[in-house]
Amino acid sequence: MTLGRFFGFFFLFLTVSCGFHRPPVTVLPDAEKEPEKILFIAIDGIGYEMMHELQKEGYFSDFQPVVPLTVTFPSATTIGFTGIFKPLDVGLVPGYESRFYSYKDNEVIGGTPGDIYKIHVNYKTYFDAFRHTMHEKAVMYAFPGVAGKEDLMRTEKLLLESPKKVIMTYLGGTDGAQHLLGRNRMMRFMIFVDRFITRMKKRYRLLHDEPLKVVLFSDHGFHFDRLKMVGTGEIEKALNTAGLKRSRHLVDENDVVVVEYGLLSAGVMMTHPKQREKAARSLTGVDGIDLVFWPEGKRVHMVNSEGEEAYFDYHWSQGGKPTKYRYVPVSGDPLDYFPIISKSGYASGDWIPDGRWKKMTAQAYYPDAGYRLYDSFFNLVENKASVMFSVKPNYQFGGFAALAGTYLKFGHKGTHGGLFRDTSTGMVMTDDPKMNLPDAVRYDEMFKLFLPQVTRAYQRRHGKREIQFLTQPH
Ligand SMILES: [Zn+2]
Repeated sequence: MTLGRFFGFFFLFLTVSCGFHRPPVTVLPDAEKEPEKILFIAIDGIGYEMMHELQKEGYFSDFQPVVPLTVTFPSATTIGFTGIFKPLDVGLVPGYESRFYSYKDNEVIGGTPGDIYKIHVNYKTYFDAFRHTMHEKAVMYAFPGVAGKEDLMRTEKLLLESPKKVIMTYLGGTDGAQHLLGRNRMMRFMIFVDRFITRMKKRYRLLHDEPLKVVLFSDHGFHFDRLKMVGTGEIEKALNTAGLKRSRHLVDENDVVVVEYGLLSAGVMMTHPKQREKAARSLTGVDGIDLVFWPEGKRVHMVNSEGEEAYFDYHWSQGGKPTKYRYVPVSGDPLDYFPIISKSGYASGDWIPDGRWKKMTAQAYYPDAGYRLYDSFFNLVENKASVMFSVKPNYQFGGFAALAGTYLKFGHKGTHGGLFRDTSTGMVMTDDPKMNLPDAVRYDEMFKLFLPQVTRAYQRRHGKREIQFLTQPH
């Protein structure tokens, strides 16, 4: 029995009798005006690379070629879906992940069985079928295959029975399948998904005389590797050397809360505003950490493990979205952006419009870093980070070192969260031959492409303004 399965049983046992009222599904304005019935299936954590390979082998053949969907940083589910649902007015999410530091409570909360019922995460209410309860979540990680089949059957039932024009469902077992079972098992499951969808569409056509468009998308990518741990102990030591102190609460000016996620390739720390830079810099020597980031005024600073340093300097209009920004070197080129910038005819440090950055860096090793870092530090999340870091591909970071050790022994097969390509490129694809998708889609543009009527209705609600968050950088 793997540890995941053990915990699955444990939570099943704990939560079978929980009374839980499902939150109502969000009503999308003007959904009826969309030209045809459209089914969105969110497949948790499947990366562009894998879907590309499946199509090369002949699967998902009635879909157009898959396109990378650049996701948020950290490239993980909670902030990931929040970024994707931004044009549908999803608002802020309490934390980057289900476990997060709350300024109000002055401690790390969330991620325990009971919290699922207490902490409201808006994006979940957009799905017509979602794994809300702990029981449902437990199945997802204990028996990813079973969960995946359950989710597909629920999707079909909705498609055949719901009168709604826009239907959204969620395949949750896939993330667990990748973490615990690995790449081959995930590929096999996806082949099953392909066959299921083909048969489901046939059954739909037999019953309904109405065209149907199917869109598959994911909330983050995935990196398969044998992973080493970034030790929290080592982070603690580095903080101490810098005169700071790891703590569970922010009381003293030198306190630093290190938020331990599941096991991701990224991490978040909270500090007194004065100590952000010091806390960030202290991490650059920690084994496995690739890049550290901290915000300062209108800037996001970064240093890599080799001591190369630069910052993004943002120019934003009233609504809060960066209109142009520049990548200013301090020493070296931590993101390897110089060649990309000069190939496009700019000099490093030039102000470049966001649209240009998006195109220039979509295929970079750190895709679309300027925009993603901005959104992550200044928008999207209610409890904003003081410092964030991205680890090297063959590392992961998270709590419960012993648990991690056990997982590793059983063979944890990879993870996601980082700023680098594998983890940052989710995917989007459609079976609609009329759609003309760009080479890469940024997370908060996907629904604008597929639901123009709905996203416009939301914009009208906001007085023609883009839907944005009005928080200003601190
Ligand atoms: Zn995951």
